[in-house]
Amino acid sequence: MPLSSVLIVGAGPAGLSLAQYLKTHGIPYRIVEKSNDDRLQGYSVSLHFALEYLAKAMGEEKMKSIVEKTSVNYRDETAFSTVDHLGQPVMKSNGSPTLVGYGIRANRSRLRTFLLDGIDVEMGVDATGVVFTDQGPVLKTNKGDMVADVIVGADGIRSAVRTSIIGNTVEDTNIVNLSVSRDISAEEHAKFIKYSPTHSLMHGEKKDGQNGVVNLFYSVNDISPDKKRVNVRWILSWDKTAIYKDIPDTQDGLRKLANEMAEGFADPFKSLVLNTDPSEKYWLGMICQYMPDPAWNGKGQITLVGDAMHAMTPYRGEGLNHAILDIVRLGEQLVKAHQGEQTTAEAIAIYEEEAIVRGRKAVEASLEMANSVHRGLTWPLMMVTRAISFMLNFTQNIPFMELFFPKTH
Ligand SMILES: Cc1cc2nc3c(=O)[nH]c(=O)nc-3n(C[C@H](O)[C@H](O)[C@H](O)COP(=O)(O)OP(=O)(O)OC[C@H]3O[C@@H](n4cnc5c(N)ncnc54)[C@H](O)[C@@H]3O)c2cc1C
Repeated sequence: MPLSSVLIVGAGPAGLSLAQYLKTHGIPYRIVEKSNDDRLQGYSVSLHFALEYLAKAMGEEKMKSIVEKTSVNYRDETAFSTVDHLGQPVMKSNGSPTLVGYGIRANRSRLRTFLLDGIDVEMGVDATGVVFTDQGPVLKTNKGDMVADVIVGADGIRSAVRTSIIGNTVEDTNIVNLSVSRDISAEEHAKFIKYSPTHSLMHGEKKDGQNGVVNLFYSVNDISPDKKRVNVRWILSWDKTAIYKDIPDTQDGLRKLANEMAEGFADPFKSLVLNTDPSEKYWLGMICQYMPDPAWNGKGQITLVGDAMHAMTPYRGEGLNHAILDIVRLGEQLVKAHQGEQTTAEAIAIYEEEAIVRGRKAVEASLEMANSVHRGLTWPLMMVTRAISFMLNFTQNIPFMELFFPKTH
């Protein structure tokens, strides 16, 4: 029997891409979102291995404008670089933080607008959980019960859909982020362009007797239409079990801590932090993760995608890419169910078998990357990385890179 309704919970990148995929393939869907407005999110994201999958959801025609509509600098000009604390480049890769293949750096808000094209989202619907009934799965919300053939939890790391079935198993890592989004002038931005036009990571100095380093990440969020102002985000991050264990709980304390940490870096990175207006909001956050649980059982009626299924640290820049891969893998199976080639339960089982294994691998690899960048680069590793970077000047696809940077998809 054809599917009569797929209910998507959460209109983040995963939920919206799934809505696009189902719309493209003629499957009836409904998408609900708890927030009431288009939230502005103060950071940008790298889209790389998911681009080919996103095309399956959006269609080739819409994808033609993705760079112009979503990229932080409105251009096909992206690079990720790492820099030592003295300002000497360590590694630079054009096009993708994974070092393999093409990518773009997307502004979150504009990516959301791009994914929203043609999709009607029911806003202000806060899901509290799901229940199984003889009539099918039911979503409990502040606006009443909603029934569907299939419910897909795309409601992020703290997914209410997932929690109502298997409880809350989100884990804190030891990595802390202290960040600010602020405007800088085009002249100030020009000093970063020699490292990267879009985003760079500065490795902190590894001091004798210390087990960890502070890193400083710089990322363009957006450029004003007249190109005179550039909105950027800086993020200081460290392992709180190794260094800076006592973290202040006031804005003034956080600003002083950020300034103290920034003294260990060279310009222009140092001034980016030190010249931050004290009235800006200093955000403190713990990096969390959710490891997919093989015991998950949505009884062939309820499933999960994106961060609800597998939430990983941002240190490989892959969470959103895996979310989009999820929705295509799930979408392909739902299309077969819709066409009567298999049952819905079989479709969900095939999807979950692959997504849980892949998700676990990605969560583990992202945690390993988060831990290793905060242990600090030793001198020999720095030399090896510089040698690889030299080779990357000639090719963007060195086969042996996968030994250092294993694929998770
Ligand atoms: C600093 C940072 C940098 C990152 N950089 C990258 C990167 O470069 N590349 C990359 O691939 N990934 C990156 N990620 C990860 C990426 O942001 C996530 O993997 C991605 O946002 C997951 O999308 P999602 O739709 O699954 O979840 P979310 O983006 O969390 O969206 C979930 C949606 O569900 C809604 N919702 C939540 N609860 C409910 C409820 N109860 N009822 C209804 N709706 C609900 C939320 O309001 C939200 O709209 C980064 C993450 C961070 C924090």
